[in-house]
Amino acid sequence: MAGMIPLSIPNFEGNEKKYVDDALKQGWVSTGGTYVTRLEQELAKFLHVEGMAACQSGTAALHLSMIEAGVRPGDAVLVPPITFIAAVNPVKYQFASPIFIDCDDGFCMDPIKLRAFCEQECEFKDGALSYHGKRVRAVVVVHVFGNMANMDGIMEVAREFNLKVIEDATEALGTHYTEGRFAGKYAGTIGDFGAFSFNGNKIITTGGGGAVAARDPQAMEHIRYLSTQAKNDPHYYIHNEVGYNYRMTNLQAALGVAQMEELEEFIARKNRNYELYRFLFKGFDLVEMMPFREGTASNRWFYSLKLDRDRIRNSMREIITALEKKNIETRAIWGLINEQEPYRDETAYRMEKAPYYARRILNLPCSTQITEDEIRCVAGEIKSLLKELAQ
Ligand SMILES: *Cc1c(COP(=O)(O)O)cnc(C)c1O
Repeated sequence: MAGMIPLSIPNFEGNEKKYVDDALKQGWVSTGGTYVTRLEQELAKFLHVEGMAACQSGTAALHLSMIEAGVRPGDAVLVPPITFIAAVNPVKYQFASPIFIDCDDGFCMDPIKLRAFCEQECEFKDGALSYHGKRVRAVVVVHVFGNMANMDGIMEVAREFNLKVIEDATEALGTHYTEGRFAGKYAGTIGDFGAFSFNGNKIITTGGGGAVAARDPQAMEHIRYLSTQAKNDPHYYIHNEVGYNYRMTNLQAALGVAQMEELEEFIARKNRNYELYRFLFKGFDLVEMMPFREGTASNRWFYSLKLDRDRIRNSMREIITALEKKNIETRAIWGLINEQEPYRDETAYRMEKAPYYARRILNLPCSTQITEDEIRCVAGEIKSLLKELAQ
């Protein structure tokens, strides 16, 4: 196989060039211009919501959600330990404290532990949950690798303890429930806020970019206002609040509109490629392809291979480096956020599954343009490497 098989690269097979050229020709390169509103409309239509606010990044989308959820200095926010760190940093931007709640077997927040923490470690009085004097204001739920979190369980706990729910759907555009109470509902549209990302490695990209959906139309409007420097007057510079320069540019949005035209096809390919990997690793007892949640249709953005750590004792670095020499790019799941330097002193509640999976998960090449031959090559090389290393 010639050349490196990359982990995840963007795919520009559609109208990307045409729309970006058009935006350039129009001269609308900044936050004004028709592509921004068009992308918002396309996203809203796809997700079956009233409206969306396009932002500079998923991180900005999460920060705006955090502000709108009313998270203030001195508050606490319940967050996941095993995900990309940008899901948690906005808590610190608001000078609040994260509290880490362990994941379930889908890598997403475990509603049982969430409930146990709220019931056993916190005080609930007059509709307010508090932890050692800190008001617990919100919960950040990440749909890790495009896998839907257990929203049934999480929404129940959140409603009971009056917590705002911020869904980090940055990896999960297109993931939706097919069964149960939320059948037909998309990741990012179930809680109070949903944040999406269009960074280079996400299922669609605008280079850098993101979007927010808010359940409450007024909150949606206020988020848009905050994202555009909080302007209160079209002619005079009047600002009644501290705003942010978080709105997406027209150039980014032009790329995004083209990518939205391909989203269904990208999801179909992600699904097909996942099934092929699963077929190829079937019966190979040193690994397990991790499944996606039942009762949902996932965008299957990233694929996770769980290694048998009783028999494969080598470090992830050794495994990743050995595969790199075979021209295959893989990666380890993230390091636990509660163990990272800025978060070491924060509360972490009953960490069991997050550290378990942190040691075991290897992510496989999953670009939408990967070929069947390449997938067979990846699976073959991984099998022969692991057979060599197994004890
Ligand atoms: C990508 C990602 C983000 C951040 O999105 P950006 O657009 O890169 O700012 C946040 N959370 C998770 C889980 C992500 O994967």
